[in-house]
Amino acid sequence: STPAGLGPDHGYGPDIDHVLLSEQQIQGKITELADRIARDYEGREVLLVGVLKGAVLFMSDFARALRLPTQMEFMAVSSYGSSTSSSGVVRILKDLDRDISGMDVLVLEDIIDSGLTLSWLLKNLGSRRPASLEVCALLRKPDAIKVEVPVRYVGFDIPNEFVVGYGLDYAERYRDLPYIGTLKPQVYST
Ligand code: 5GP
Ligand code: MG
Ligand code: MG
Repeated sequence: STPAGLGPDHGYGPDIDHVLLSEQQIQGKITELADRIARDYEGREVLLVGVLKGAVLFMSDFARALRLPTQMEFMAVSSYGSSTSSSGVVRILKDLDRDISGMDVLVLEDIIDSGLTLSWLLKNLGSRRPASLEVCALLRKPDAIKVEVPVRYVGFDIPNEFVVGYGLDYAERYRDLPYIGTLKPQVYST
């Protein structure tokens, strides 16, 4: 039941329909992004802002790959709407623990779908006067082009499918998978 060569599946194997990105592809991309970002921010200290909970695994791997001094902050937001689509109305569940004024802030996001959450977040963080504010998203879906959100760094452009794994959940499950994949239809109906 474990997709071949994909490492531990934490017992979720039977629920996975197909694998979109293997652990190796994800880790390779993180190295690539980290190298590029280290060049762009050379000589500076970066404040990484991870958006909970989806970006936790990405933050953890990215911070280790980035050969620059970093500080880490987390923010949790909830967008009103169903569990599979967002409305753009956002509420802060957990704010940053500190003032970010004058800092080089890099927001780490798991996925940009409609872009509504991110667009709200950038407006919010931008008003706190950081020295710079950029976004690094591991995944981006096609609808993201509808919203004018400046995302400097993107890992993968993926098709318009609901994906889980590597931080991304369905009903709080599957975040711990080392790869990213889709779920079998039967998972949604039970
Ligand atoms: P947006 O505001 O860009 O539409 O929504 C972004 C948020 O919706 C993501 O941070 C994530 O929590 C959720 N989301 C969007 N697409 C997916 C997906 O394919 N899988 C999962 N698990 N969550 C998604
Ligand atoms: Mg997110
Ligand atoms: Mg979710």
